[in-house]
Amino acid sequence: MKPTDTGTRRPSRRRFFGVPGGLLILAVVVFATCLAPARAGATGTAAQPAQAFTNAVLIDGTGVSPVERATVVIRGATIEAAGPAGQVKIPAGAVVTDLHGMVLMPGLADMHVHLLGGWDGHAVDMLGYRRYMNALLYAGITTVLDTGNVQPYIVQLRAETAAGRLLGPHIYCVGGLVDGADPAWPPLSYAVASVGQVALVVKALKRDNVDLIKGYVGLSHSVLERLVEEGRKVSLRVIVDQWQRNGSPDLVEDGIYGFAHLPTRLLSTDNVHFMQQHNTVFISTLIVYESQTRKRLRDLTFLQDPLVRDTSPPSFLAGLRAEAARKLDADEAAHAQRWEKLQQNAMDNAKALFGAGVLLAAGTDAPYPGDMQGEGLHHELELLVAAGLTPLEAITVATRNAARLIGASDWGTIEAGKLATLIVVDGRPDSNISDTRKVVEVMLRGRKIDRESLKMARQNDPGYEPVSPTDF
Ligand SMILES: [Zn+2]
Repeated sequence: MKPTDTGTRRPSRRRFFGVPGGLLILAVVVFATCLAPARAGATGTAAQPAQAFTNAVLIDGTGVSPVERATVVIRGATIEAAGPAGQVKIPAGAVVTDLHGMVLMPGLADMHVHLLGGWDGHAVDMLGYRRYMNALLYAGITTVLDTGNVQPYIVQLRAETAAGRLLGPHIYCVGGLVDGADPAWPPLSYAVASVGQVALVVKALKRDNVDLIKGYVGLSHSVLERLVEEGRKVSLRVIVDQWQRNGSPDLVEDGIYGFAHLPTRLLSTDNVHFMQQHNTVFISTLIVYESQTRKRLRDLTFLQDPLVRDTSPPSFLAGLRAEAARKLDADEAAHAQRWEKLQQNAMDNAKALFGAGVLLAAGTDAPYPGDMQGEGLHHELELLVAAGLTPLEAITVATRNAARLIGASDWGTIEAGKLATLIVVDGRPDSNISDTRKVVEVMLRGRKIDRESLKMARQNDPGYEPVSPTDF
């Protein structure tokens, strides 16, 4: 996405994965620890103490109605059992946490981010990765797909996070963008002028084991076709951002896997059927279209949301306020006006594609003004509901569907055998989607995250307040 193309509530202080649940939990932990030597001969998984969450409202990410009194059992990094209280046995010695009717659901996934941009979508802030990852985790975003970045940088971030040396959401990435001879984002792009260059580019992407390939707007038809072909040889699928051509059937006929954005022109019923027949996937990014309309800048109360307030550097907030106060020239005003219609088209497409059974995954394209890492995904869910999805369907788009899009089978739903990557929400997002914002706990692969430690006020790193950001 490039801006020039085509034209609260306070979080609960109750803490449930942690100690303030009471001395009982502490006692059980001590007891379990004391038992450890006696279990030395047991298998690895059985030796790990179980955790059980009771009195949860379970939204499992599959789209089925919530289970009102659920129990979820975790052992190590994995969900061992999940279901109605009467059907799930709590293992002896488990650390039991009563969730008092709060919602337990899968961690959310944002399948279109760029982990290097400044707040305005143009400034580069490669030293800000700590801030992006804190903001994402704080907001309950436990998985991201970086859809275009400086390749060695994002590959290193992915590796360090996967190894547990950097705390952050699980990262998937496309590496650098594959663009035409005159790339739109030169520092992030392979400039490919001829089909003869494609094999080498795909080799460089495969060497870094990227998760998907992303073809950008400047690719010619013949280069895109070759990119798909070379990608196939090494099991890498191609998603594209072709700006106004997103959603064009001829791109699907070239063999692409899907689109990194919803189309901004209205798809016909035939187009939607064609996408469904070809198993074409889409990433939503309604919020980046809204950023073009400047709608959010007309009412800055969202800056008071803890998901923004607690994790944004002062310079970022000042930049947004200054941008909101700036007087637009006639061209800018017309641009913003034009995007109102384009955003509505994309929302209508979201409803039609989802309704036809096309795989739609949630993404934000953060950061852009009013589209920030973390909070942006919650607003994306609100926009999906405004587009006509039910709240449960929208949640599915940011959980199970995200995992399906990337081809992962170990996360995205709360079911036995999946990773224990989940969030606790103090609200009912199945009836009011904005309640996903009320994240009170985040667990990554069975490990509770200290959300307090993710707040800006707790940081002491000059990288948090970029003094001289440069533009792309
Ligand atoms: Zn993007």
